Amino acid sequence: MSLARNHDRRAPRSAPPPPAPKRLSQRELHALLERLDRREQMLIRQIAEERNRIDNEGLSQLEADVGDQVDQAFVKTSVEMERGLIDRYTAELADIAAARERLSNDALGLCVDCGEPIGAPRLQAQPTAGRCSDCQWRHEKLAGMVNGQSQSW
Ligand SMILES: [Zn+2]
Repeated sequence: MSLARNHDRRAPRSAPPPPAPKRLSQRELHALLERLDRREQMLIRQIAEERNRIDNEGLSQLEADVGDQVDQAFVKTSVEMERGLIDRYTAELADIAAARERLSNDALGLCVDCGEPIGAPRLQAQPTAGRCSDCQWRHEKLAGMVNGQSQSW
């Protein structure tokens, strides 16, 4: 099993590594990266499957043109639900890409807001987490205020 060794593109400017005592070890980072890879593969597959399903249901909708309206409404709703799923998967893919980006900047596991290490348990639970739990809480609270309601991601 070779870990992505050829991922060796040098950053244009090599900044001195910041002192960070509590960060994840290289091994933990690699484990995290592997989880991101697997999750990404799965999401890509699921998006393809949902797209397929939408295509098929779109077809059956045409074929059932003479069918009753309840069926059509059902088909319409489920296509909308699947579109919603695709949106969610796509957003998660973007999160994964962002996590990789942070990794290549040697910033994975650091909070994007306060720069403190994100706790390992939190990262294990959610490898794409970009904020420590304090900042995430604040962030959601603020977003909730802006939107007039608390929003979950
Ligand atoms: Zn923070």
